Amino acid sequence: MPVTPLHIGAGLLFKTYAPTRVSWVVFVIANVLIDLEPILWFLFTGDPAHRQLHSYLGATVVAVVSVWPGRLAGELWLRWWNRQLSPAQARWLGTDTRITLAAAGFGALLGSGSHILLDSFMHADMQPFWPWAADNGLLQKISIDGLHLICLVAAAWGGLRLALRGWIVLPATLLGRGLRSAGLLVEATAIGLFLALMASQVIVQLTAVP
Ligand SMILES: [Zn+2]
Repeated sequence: MPVTPLHIGAGLLFKTYAPTRVSWVVFVIANVLIDLEPILWFLFTGDPAHRQLHSYLGATVVAVVSVWPGRLAGELWLRWWNRQLSPAQARWLGTDTRITLAAAGFGALLGSGSHILLDSFMHADMQPFWPWAADNGLLQKISIDGLHLICLVAAAWGGLRLALRGWIVLPATLLGRGLRSAGLLVEATAIGLFLALMASQVIVQLTAVP
């Protein structure tokens, strides 16, 4: 992989930037379904193979299949989650239990698409563009440590944003709006630098003379 929990952490980032448009629960379900493939191959053959479901085509099928049961299971889980919270906890940990069809669809597609992209850097047996191409041009273009770092930073960033959103309510004054804009500017700069760093690593690898 990166193992499934690391994929799931990256989903927090999508969730925090588009909270009503992306279902994190369906994102998780799509990721788990895709990683059932190597688990089942391992159980039956001893080889944790990454085959059709670890391609963009297979992952899209998984995304479509995830939407309806994912939405159903997700809403059940969110209702259960809300019931566990005290009134004080519910103020910042409580969540809307309705998952729209669009949010489920975006969650499933982002979950399955990001899964294939991240796994492409890692698994030599993957064919991301199956059945049209057999090669995997991204293999080892980012080191495994680098890949884990990306997933952990995304998870920490998303988690921190979600937590701060519950704790800090900026006033709707000029000062509040200024603080919010300054925060977004700092954040956009940090994201830009991080993405540029990662992109430069990939470009160096892709253009390296063998
Ligand atoms: Zn995988």
